[in-house]
Amino acid sequence: MDKYAVLKQYFGHDAFRPGQEALVDGILSGRDALGIMPTGGGKSLCYQVPALLLPGVTLVISPLISLMKDQVASLEAAGISAGFLNSSQTLEESRQVWGRVRRGECRLLYIAPERLENQRFLELAAALEIPLVAVDEAHCISQWGQDFRPSYLKIAAFVSALPRRPVLAAFTATATAQVQEDVVRQLDLRTPVRVVTGFDRPNLFFDVRRPRKKLPELLALLEERRGRSGIVYCATRSNVEKVWAELESRGFSAARYHAGLDEEERRISQEDFQYDRRQIMVATNAFGMGIDKSNVSFVLHYNMPKNLESYYQEAGRGGRDGEAADCVLLYGAGDVATARVLLTHGEGGDPEPRELERLNAMVDYCKTNDCLRGRILDYFGQPHPERCGGCGNCQGMFSQADVTVQAQMILSCIKRVRDRLGYYVGAALIVQVLRGGHSQRIKELGLDQLSTYGLMREETQERVRAYLDCLEATECVYTETEHGTLRPGAKANAVLFHGERVHMLSRVERQIEAPVRQKAERVPAAPPDQSLLAALRAERTRLARQEGVPPYIIFSNAALADMAARVPRTPEEFLEVSGVGQVKARRYGSAFLAVIAAWWEE
Ligand code: ADP
Ligand code: ZN
Repeated sequence: MDKYAVLKQYFGHDAFRPGQEALVDGILSGRDALGIMPTGGGKSLCYQVPALLLPGVTLVISPLISLMKDQVASLEAAGISAGFLNSSQTLEESRQVWGRVRRGECRLLYIAPERLENQRFLELAAALEIPLVAVDEAHCISQWGQDFRPSYLKIAAFVSALPRRPVLAAFTATATAQVQEDVVRQLDLRTPVRVVTGFDRPNLFFDVRRPRKKLPELLALLEERRGRSGIVYCATRSNVEKVWAELESRGFSAARYHAGLDEEERRISQEDFQYDRRQIMVATNAFGMGIDKSNVSFVLHYNMPKNLESYYQEAGRGGRDGEAADCVLLYGAGDVATARVLLTHGEGGDPEPRELERLNAMVDYCKTNDCLRGRILDYFGQPHPERCGGCGNCQGMFSQADVTVQAQMILSCIKRVRDRLGYYVGAALIVQVLRGGHSQRIKELGLDQLSTYGLMREETQERVRAYLDCLEATECVYTETEHGTLRPGAKANAVLFHGERVHMLSRVERQIEAPVRQKAERVPAAPPDQSLLAALRAERTRLARQEGVPPYIIFSNAALADMAARVPRTPEEFLEVSGVGQVKARRYGSAFLAVIAAWWEE
């Protein structure tokens, strides 16, 4: 069998994705490999296909116990014999796995890195034929990242101590050059084939909204998405509790997850979501690394994360099955303060300059009128067209307003306050003065005596904030980083004294269009029939219950959609469906063909 046959027969795919083939070829020719691909890019296939073509058992080092179990279940469902060893097993269970491995029955063996510290494991491993060691989430080896796992440092020594050095292949979604270099060095990869695929995820639709009140906006977004599965990320535990309670009271089926819940509660929540028993997961960023659910069709952020890496990683948990998914961030001015607190771990003081820089890039993303996808790709250093056509800003409509007068009011106010106090103050106080606020501080400082006090009494706070953002973008003002004070910028005098005009773009249409799937892997024959799709889904749920596995392990949403579009009538036609390999066709073909036949009857 060759790699194409393996791809089709076991995984049901017609072609490799960009980057996959080069990695597979490299590994098969005996070279080490480094694969950098976004979440959902298809990293697993890069070592699973070689594992089926090489003799012996491929060792996969993976940091997460929950993920391992799922991956092994997925492989088994596709007719590939695999096993895992981790601390969640009983002694008897791991004995059984060892038995299968020793008899040469397992093609892939998943282990947690900590296993490499176990002497018994090392002895047993030395007696095996291991052609390939695949390291998943390889960035965990880097001390620079937040996911550092000390046991990853043992991998290189383990590999070189084996009687025959296997091919070593490392995979991660983390793109920075520093992490890449760390992975190569710490794992001691030998002139690896390196593949860095594009970071774009064309099936994700990005949007940022700045609602006056977040909760009603969130509820509206979820209402439009009833019946679909998704994640709502919040910055704090208390927000998770608040949002979750609100959703429960409105009849949404939601689970919650944060570090304040005990282990058992977290496990139940995660499983409820994973097995589609609950459709929405409300969580802090504690939820994530361990999930491999492919049919997540939206990721909403109730708060802004602390940097774009985190945002893209979290948002990237949507649409892993290749189906369209949307990623909407609800931004409010308070988010910046919350993020700063999180950066200093609640200890006050100033965040590190590098962290602050990353936070600023995140804030810019929330405020920009440019293509949102473009902003993300810029951040990862990847070239892109100016407009993607598949984000809120590319699809939204903008109106341009002349805000020169407002700009002059704001600039004079900044100057007057400074003249009065002898120092500059932050944006929050300037906004209060302009809107004629009555706080104690304003009175004490005598700012209510200024001629600019209350000049913008008629405007909402959000509106004044929007002017400030525009002034910042046009260099009329800037925020000094050390104390966060607002100061006149390079263009201030031109606007105040030389007749230069200021224009503000604002998005008028903030309605999300139905997400367009940009790059289909394979264009379906016709749009899927919804009633058939529903019937296929029901069958999948039934089978999943029967077998005690999450539904997407039977078939992904993408596979069901393709099935509903193609409407196969025979086993041969069933094999044509994307994501259907021979074993799955044999195992589930008749059940799904029966559903299709019944649907035809009607
Ligand atoms: P990653 O580990 O990079 O996050 P996965 O390996 O979980 O991504 O793959 C994500 C999804 O893409 C899976 O649903 C998988 O079936 C699908 N996939 C991977 N390779 C291909 C391919 N060549 N053709 C079609 N679908 C693919
Ligand atoms: Zn765009």
